[in-house]
Amino acid sequence: MYSNALADFSLTPHSHTVRRFNKSSSGDIFADIALALGQAVQADMVIISLITPQPDKPCQTISFINNGKICDNFEYSLKDTPCEDVTASNFCIFNNNVQELFPNDPALTEMDIHSYVGAPLVDKCGEVIGVVNTLYHGSLSELENIEVLFQLFADLISSELERCRTLQKMEISRQVIASANEGIVICDSQKQILEANKTFSDMLNMSPHALQGKSVEDIIASQYSGHTNSEIWHTIEETDHWSSEFWCEADNGKLLPTWLTVNAIRNDAGQIEHYALFFSDLTDHKVAEQKIHFQANYDSLTGLANRQLFLDRLGLSLHHAQRNNRQIAVLFIDLDLFKAVNDSLGHIQGDQLLRIAAKRLTQITRKSDTVARLGGDEFTMLLEDIHSPSELEEIADKILQTIAQPIDLDGQHTFITASIGIAHYPSDANTADQLLSFADQAMYNAKTAGKNCARFFTREMQVTADQRLDLKHRLDRALSNQQITTAFQPIINLETGRVEKFESLVRWKDQGTHISPTHFIPIAEEFGLIRTLGEQVLEQSCQALSGLHAAGYSHLQFCINRSAKEFPKHNDPHPQWLATAEKYHLPHTALCFEVTESVLTPNSLTQKQFFEHLKNSGCQIAIDDFGTGYSSLSYLRQFPVDILKIDRSFISDFTQDEDDLTLVSTIIAMAKSLGMKVVAEGVETQEQLNQLIKLGCHYGQGYYFSKPLEQSQLLTFLQRHEATES
Ligand code: C2E
Ligand code: MG
Ligand code: MG
Repeated sequence: MYSNALADFSLTPHSHTVRRFNKSSSGDIFADIALALGQAVQADMVIISLITPQPDKPCQTISFINNGKICDNFEYSLKDTPCEDVTASNFCIFNNNVQELFPNDPALTEMDIHSYVGAPLVDKCGEVIGVVNTLYHGSLSELENIEVLFQLFADLISSELERCRTLQKMEISRQVIASANEGIVICDSQKQILEANKTFSDMLNMSPHALQGKSVEDIIASQYSGHTNSEIWHTIEETDHWSSEFWCEADNGKLLPTWLTVNAIRNDAGQIEHYALFFSDLTDHKVAEQKIHFQANYDSLTGLANRQLFLDRLGLSLHHAQRNNRQIAVLFIDLDLFKAVNDSLGHIQGDQLLRIAAKRLTQITRKSDTVARLGGDEFTMLLEDIHSPSELEEIADKILQTIAQPIDLDGQHTFITASIGIAHYPSDANTADQLLSFADQAMYNAKTAGKNCARFFTREMQVTADQRLDLKHRLDRALSNQQITTAFQPIINLETGRVEKFESLVRWKDQGTHISPTHFIPIAEEFGLIRTLGEQVLEQSCQALSGLHAAGYSHLQFCINRSAKEFPKHNDPHPQWLATAEKYHLPHTALCFEVTESVLTPNSLTQKQFFEHLKNSGCQIAIDDFGTGYSSLSYLRQFPVDILKIDRSFISDFTQDEDDLTLVSTIIAMAKSLGMKVVAEGVETQEQLNQLIKLGCHYGQGYYFSKPLEQSQLLTFLQRHEATES
């Protein structure tokens, strides 16, 4: 109860000199002491008050006895009161005329006080923390022993105050420990647990009661933490402190990751009396750490290592191989035509297919080997301890066979193949980056060699790769310097013999030599230059065509080749393709866009919508090189296709080759039934032309009519052609 007086005091800030009366705290020990003191020194009033170190803060009485009765506590200002003298000069006694001595203390007059005795209350450090004083209505006569008595009472009150403070502090500490998020354990010098908070007992799944008396060493599972118990306690002995990640063993044997801090608490003699242990649960932290580690090092789709981890492991493995004279190999594995499969089956099935491929690759490797997914359909394998190239050949064969096994994707049967490139340490390279890059180059070779095969890296491949890179740099420069030109090849209506269209074909003359588009278009696609290239061709085509329209050939249409990589990624309501035509005041109908079959996949909704948008704007769509891809006429129907261009390879032989003839005539018949027009590419002879006319093919294009022409030749060509026609 007596602590209430302190609590009241500490919670009642007040800076006025005006008295303020608080609730009584009767029944507390200070009231008992004050009553006893009042009787002992026959005082009319007894006041025990606490002072604060700040001069502007008022004093607070914790006991006020008036005429033998416990009265309400109050606050008062110390300034100019006899109590101020007490705090400054120890025991004070004013046995008369106290009102005259302290004229600025009106309370003395108000309460009719004539004599005053006061002694300071001090804490254990000797600091004055309060005053005990007695007041008298009359003058004081018997002064013997009064000082001794006062001293005794002052000591008693001081020690009671000290005890209150300690208890209060302990209560606060207890509450802090009980409500802490950390597990806290206090143990004695023998490491026996005296107290553990609820957080800690919850961590270990034990009742606080069961923990009491246990040795803390039983709980700290030092064997899982890389420290011995003697090491730990020795450090604490030396430095009073120890902290580390630590595994605690719960009652059920479960291990809990924590961050443990141990502090030694010493007594005045410097001996360790207690230990305080703080345990922070690291479970969430560990889970997050693992997650971050996984995200940083593994591929979330397949669970395989990612590029980062693969390169790390490759680096380590190289280091090991160099020191121990071992051989290692990197395999670069790329699934063949995955994009087409992914587009036709859908992305969910595509993902499933990648997971199956990843699983198959892991199943055929040894535990020591690393399989990684670099991204998309690219996988890599690090094979350690290789003894001969034939061993690698065997593994590559096994991979090819395993990957090519039929796949059942929720009832849909499919299969896929892979192309593999192999680079070997020490014969090919001795850095991780180089090995990976060389394996990649070898894989590229496997692709160009027809896919579903493996190729070892060779020096020649490096030369080719360098050449490709060189070509890329030169093409980049040519595009920046606007050195790319366009040639135009006429397309003839076979019924009327009229020139109705021209195909725009990109031309690049580098250092006096023509480079074939079949050579540099794939480079432009691979290195992200195709859009710029396409834009320049479109611009030149529209410009040329607007000239021809102005010259009276307004029926002409230009066919522009577009690579799949040039399609807008998202639906674009006003694509640059149309904007360029408008810039040259050309109707949209004056343009036809040629795309290859690979662009058409049943699931490419964006592309389908884009085609529809082009078509609705008035442009035409042609499928180029038809017959060489994988599309079937049946799903061509789903796309707004106007024209099929039969690939030159079928035309070149179809007058001799029965199969080609059948194919060409079937394409023409089916295209007609779907309401599409047909262009035969690569018409070189009269015989081919006659046959095509017989089959009812709508258009012909080829050297028989004309090679691709420069812009400056177009008008003359058209005029001459018209002249020969008439
Ligand atoms: P393509 O679209 O099938 O173009 C027809 C190709 O056949 C042209 O080759 C043309 O010169 C050639 N050609 C036409 N008639 C005959 C003939 O009677 N006999 C023979 N032997 N060849 C003939 P070119 O100009 O070398 O273009 C090759 C390919 O490069 C084109 O095939 C097209 O796929 C691509 N290409 C050309 N220009 C561009 C372009 O601006 N953008 C894109 N993305 N690709 C283009
Ligand atoms: Mg074409
Ligand atoms: Mg073609």
